[in-house]
Amino acid sequence: MTNILDSYALDRWFTPEAGLVDIPSAIDGRVVARASTRGLDFAAMVRHAREVGGPALRRLTFHQRADMLKALGAHLTAHKDALYALAADTGATKRDNFFDIDGGIGTLYAYASRGRRELPGERFVVEGAPEALSKNGTFIGLHVLTPLHGVAVHVNAFNFPCWGMLEKLAPAILAGMPVITKPATATAYVAEAVVKLIIEANILPAGALQFVAGSTGDLLDHLTGQDVLSFTGSAATSQALRDHPAVSRNAVRFIAERDSLNAAVLGPDAVEGTPEFDLFIAEVVREMTVKAGQKCTAIRRIIVPKAQESAVIAALAVRLAAIPVGDPRRDDVRMGPLASRAQRTATREAVREIAAEAEIVFGDPEKVEPVGGDADTGAFMAPVLLRCPEPLTATAPHAVEAFGPVATVMGYDTLADALVLVAKGEGSLVASVYTYDPAVAEELVFGIAAHHGRLVLIDRDCAKESTGHGSPLPGLVHGGPGRAGGGEEMGGLRGVFHYMQRTAIEGSPARLSALTRTWLSGAPAPLSAEHPFKHKFDALSVGDTVETASRTITLEDIEHFAHFTGDTFYAHMDEDAAKANPFFPGRVAHGYLILSFAAGLFVDPAPGPLLANYGLDSLRFLKPVSPGDAIRVRLTVKNKQPARKPEYGEVRWDAEVFNQDGDTVARYELLTMSSRV
Ligand code: NAP
Repeated sequence: MTNILDSYALDRWFTPEAGLVDIPSAIDGRVVARASTRGLDFAAMVRHAREVGGPALRRLTFHQRADMLKALGAHLTAHKDALYALAADTGATKRDNFFDIDGGIGTLYAYASRGRRELPGERFVVEGAPEALSKNGTFIGLHVLTPLHGVAVHVNAFNFPCWGMLEKLAPAILAGMPVITKPATATAYVAEAVVKLIIEANILPAGALQFVAGSTGDLLDHLTGQDVLSFTGSAATSQALRDHPAVSRNAVRFIAERDSLNAAVLGPDAVEGTPEFDLFIAEVVREMTVKAGQKCTAIRRIIVPKAQESAVIAALAVRLAAIPVGDPRRDDVRMGPLASRAQRTATREAVREIAAEAEIVFGDPEKVEPVGGDADTGAFMAPVLLRCPEPLTATAPHAVEAFGPVATVMGYDTLADALVLVAKGEGSLVASVYTYDPAVAEELVFGIAAHHGRLVLIDRDCAKESTGHGSPLPGLVHGGPGRAGGGEEMGGLRGVFHYMQRTAIEGSPARLSALTRTWLSGAPAPLSAEHPFKHKFDALSVGDTVETASRTITLEDIEHFAHFTGDTFYAHMDEDAAKANPFFPGRVAHGYLILSFAAGLFVDPAPGPLLANYGLDSLRFLKPVSPGDAIRVRLTVKNKQPARKPEYGEVRWDAEVFNQDGDTVARYELLTMSSRV
């Protein structure tokens, strides 16, 4: 019985009965699954996401959503062997699966940990500092981010059925948006298995995730300005989606990750025999052969000094010839087949187009002898290397994406020419640069950065630990301008904020403090009857304040501090030298003395619920403190966040140190951990 792929709609599995299309195995062409979405009610799915999934997710804090992602990561990890086995039919080797399956699970974990560490235990984010909008400080503004009230529709490419889905899912769920995910049909059976595991784990709330195995029907017709459409795939499909009447009419937020002709650039210094030359060869071969070159980030254009061109081609040919192509389940195979024979036909056609302006210098696109496979029934293809003799005037090698193990070598005379060649790709996801010469690195990086979402500088110092040219990472932006789609994914919290609306909110400091549960200058700061360090986390209120007595700082204090710490910098010790310094009126107190004395002023020394001081943020010394000045401190609870362990909470205090004239001499945020039990 062929596996008929289910969709997951309205919290139920839906098995199609009509309109089924066959999905062939990449290895031998046998039908491994069948899919159809006929009968799926897309309008109801969108409604369900909006009315059930969205509200349920928005009731949770970022930390609760982060914990769900972590739990999902653990569940998928426990079952990943089954996914590995299934993915073989997509052509994936063990090494490929590492990127797709482990990489996808890793993205869930990465967002779980960022959500816990970098987002508040709230349902909104306050972005940046408040803006002063009035003379007396009674009217201010700030920016908040809240989750959109619609649905995130994710449309993915065939090459990474697991990673492609999870790297979009994790930021959306963390943001608080429900998802309808649609994998490419060609490899949807892997995505279906992942979604079945996610649903079976029963971690996400109802309506948070729906799954479409097959075409999207009229799904896009139902999208509005509260929805996000995030697409990965070809430029042609991206354009069709962007131009969809509902998407353009309703200004649906659209993120596109498309194909791109990514470059690897060998610096003029990296001649044969240097470590950078060898690293370059190894990286190009890896990028041409991982996933049989079916990676949006794969190196397609190999840009090298003309003097190195023949050495590069010779070295690549040796390495490529040593890559066994064949059945991806075999341990002796390094490169599996393309995803389908149709994909191979398209790749061969693309090679023909490129070859109109380039010569094939290694491999034959029409011939392959797969290890343990059949070249007719399986979608195998040997690596193909081309050389473009006139790359500055050629078009096809810069424009035609052969989505397979195919790349073109192009020589440059000067670095300026190399910049022109890279730019001819009209916008790429990534480029890598191989040089040990700082001047070359600078010229290349700042010459091509504007055309890329990511640049990798590979040299002898970092190569061993480098994650490589082709790996998008959760903490770094994935996306690129122009041909690459103009979108951005991941990049840490940037990717989460795509699913949120940024709203400027203006009002009084009191109102905005109360709304954001963050004390802002000008908001009420009631003095605590009892020292707030005596209060447990839950008994502290934002705005609770302690004002200290003052302490006069003497010359003896400064000298004592200087000799005790060893900081005998002249500004503290030598009146004439200090006076000659434009910043100081004469000898002044150390900044760290001010901090230390401030702590001495505000501390409540007895054991109590305040457990530890674990840092300072945003410290500024604003005015010098001279011998004879008297300082005092105002300490106010700025914000409270639950810690990972339920028995603790983090308190952020606004600390302002004044002199005897009421001028602020230092300001910072003090971070403490307080007990909740
Ligand atoms: P594709 O043909 O553009 O398909 C991508 C996705 O769009 C598939 O899920 C496809 O579904 C869907 N789709 C196609 N027509 C649609 C329509 N009219 N309405 C709604 N959805 C539609 O691309 P692909 O062949 O899967 O992937 C290969 C391409 O993706 C390459 O060009 C590669 O460079 C690019 N890619 C880019 C990235 C990136 O991050 N930038 C990553 C991976 C791949 P069906 O499968 O059901 O047709």
